[in-house]
This record gives sequence, structure tokens and C-alpha cells, in this order.
Amino acid sequence: MTRINAEDLEAGFGTRAIHAGQRPDPMSGAIMTPIYQTSTYVQEAMGVHKGYEYARGKNPTREALERNVAALEGATHGFAFASGVATTDSLMKLFRAGDHVICAENVYGGTYRLFDRLLQPLGLSFSFVDTRDPSAVRAAVTARTVAIVCETPSNPMMRITDLAAMAEIARAARALLIVDNTFATPFFQRPFDFGADVVYHSTTKYLNGHSDMIGGIAVVRDDELAARLQFIQNAAGAVPGPFDSWLALRGTKTLHLRMPRHHENGLAVAQWLERRLGEAAVVCPGLPSHPQHALAMRQMQGFSGMISIELGSKARAKHLLDRVRVFSLAESLGGVESLISHPATMTHASVPAERKAMLGISDGLVRLSCGVEDVADLIADLSQACDGL
Ligand SMILES: *Cc1c(COP(=O)(O)O)cnc(C)c1O
Repeated sequence: MTRINAEDLEAGFGTRAIHAGQRPDPMSGAIMTPIYQTSTYVQEAMGVHKGYEYARGKNPTREALERNVAALEGATHGFAFASGVATTDSLMKLFRAGDHVICAENVYGGTYRLFDRLLQPLGLSFSFVDTRDPSAVRAAVTARTVAIVCETPSNPMMRITDLAAMAEIARAARALLIVDNTFATPFFQRPFDFGADVVYHSTTKYLNGHSDMIGGIAVVRDDELAARLQFIQNAAGAVPGPFDSWLALRGTKTLHLRMPRHHENGLAVAQWLERRLGEAAVVCPGLPSHPQHALAMRQMQGFSGMISIELGSKARAKHLLDRVRVFSLAESLGGVESLISHPATMTHASVPAERKAMLGISDGLVRLSCGVEDVADLIADLSQACDGL
């Protein structure tokens, strides 16, 4: 656990992105947090040490990342993990067999698989609910409900969940509101402002932003919750290595430069796609045609570069995926380079067919992560790939 300094919370977003949680190296003054590539720390005498004993428990590079992301989200404690999924898994260790968790029905495929295939057999129970509808969430609450987990915008259907409404239901149920903020990033959405208790990320995506590591992080404001998470982080041990922590930290320094460009490119591409394929085919919360655009405008300041399009059939999806040249066919998102993917067979392959059908993750659905290249090149690429479609 790393508690951040109060002054880290007061500066503007860009200043925090670059400086928060970072201190010049005490030995050399190095401005960049060194990669403390060590497993253990020498103690001066029995019981006399600098606060570092063994690197599963604490690592200074990891702590710099934890303080930094906590400051960006407006939280006070951060806990970094080996992946986004390891973060979700570690968060669920806050709970006990018999506890009940309400989860948004459209979440990252790996989140659903973790809950359904690994944690449900261990005795946690889950209700997968359409969190676009607060009354459906309220109706799912039981005496054993300990948490509401949601992802907004959701992957890949771009559903928006009303965070303030979720926080109200969670408070009434004495449950935690846990929000996956991977798609929006703290640059565009700060769930603590709406009453979230825990915010988490796959740092693999926008926070790192360069597609060169796997990681996750959870941040909280409450000291007691932080102490429990610190215990879990050390006791379960799903920690990231110092080099991956350093790469993520290097990424967050430019988050405020990258996100506006992802937003601009995403919106321009979405508008072009609407003209080319028709309004009904394009799902992007930044477009007025998105059914929850007004809510998205209320709780977000921008929309990243994520777009889903419904092409109507696997053959049409394949036509596009086979022809793109600037967009690369790959899982993942949030990097500087544009990616395109087929959720039904890639990121959401682990979701059972009937659930995919119910959610709209069809064989014709294609997901785009617009990078920060020149937007004219992105549109020209999609235009040539759409020829004959
Ligand atoms: C990728 C992703 C995850 C999982 O993160 P990993 O780093 O791949 O383990 C969780 N939530 C969302 C929204 C994601 O996009």
C-alpha cells in the first residue's frame, strides 16, 4: 500500500500525471524512478530496516506507480497487480463464500470467466444484471450482497452505467461500488466523484498506452479498505514486476496528451463510419445517436477511441478485418497504434454463445481502438477496407 501526499492531489491533471507519487532517487537524485530490480532488501540489524523487507510486499518502483494512479483518480491508496484480471481476482478476495456480488452483464470477457468459472465454484455468488437499468440492480440486491461491479463504458457494447445511481444503491445495501475504469481512464471519468468505493484498471490498456506490458491497479480512498487490500496484495501475491510497473508509470506521464487525441480520432472515425455504414451500425457513446449519449455527457469529459460496429455477418466482418492496413488485427486496446478485433472470437470467446447473443456480441460485431495516428490515414484505411462491403 502506498499512501500519497496531500499535495499530490492538488495540482492539475497533467502535473499530477508527470509528478504525482514520484520522488528523486534518494541515492543519486535520478529524476526517473529507478527500476528497483530486487527481490529483497538488506536490513541494518535485526528489526532495523528502511521499511522494505521483501519485494512481494513492497517495491519502490511499484509504489511510485500506485501513488501516481491514485492521485490521477483522486484516491489515496493504490495497489498494483500483475494484470487487470489479477486485480479483479484480488478484489474479490475481500469477500467470503456465501457473499453475493452484482456484476454488470456486459463486462470484459475475462471478468465474466473469472466470476463464472473460478469464483462461483468457490462459493461466491454472482448476479449478472443490465446495469443500464438501476431498478434491475436494485431488484437484484439481497441480504448477502457485498458489491456491485460495473464497467462503463462497457467492453465491447459501449453501454453506460449511471455511477451516481449505482453508488446510491450500493450505499443503501451497505455494499461496495467497484468500477472498472479501463475504457474511460481518469482523464475522462472519475468514478470517485460519483461515489465509487474502488476504481480499477487494466493498466495494459490506456494507462500504459504503448502495448508493451500487462498489468492492473486498484485505487481506494478508505484507509480500512486499503489495509485489507494491502494484506491481500502481499498474501495472495499477484504483484507486477518492477520493470512492468516502470513501463506503466512511463505511460501515465503522457496520459493527458494521448487521451484528447484518442478522443478526437475516435469521434472522427465514428462519424465517418456512421456516414459509410449507417447510424444503426455504429456504437460509440460520443455520438448523439448512442442511446445513452446524454448520460455519457454527464459523467464523462470525453470518450477515448473505442468504437463498435455491427456489420451483420461474420463474412462482412472478415471482409473488413482482412483488408485493413493501418489498423492491426489484434486483441487489446488503448495503445498509440490503432487496433481492430472481432470480440465474438477474440476478447469475448470465453463468454457462452447464448450470453453473447443476448448481449449483442454477434459474429458481425467488430471493435476498433483508434490510436493516435493521423486521423486522415485511419479513415483512408477504413475506406479502402470497406470497398466492396
Ligand atoms: C483488458 C481488460 C481487462 C483485463 O485486463 P488484463 O490486463 O488483460 O488482465 C479488464 N477490464 C477491461 C475493461 C479490459 O479491457
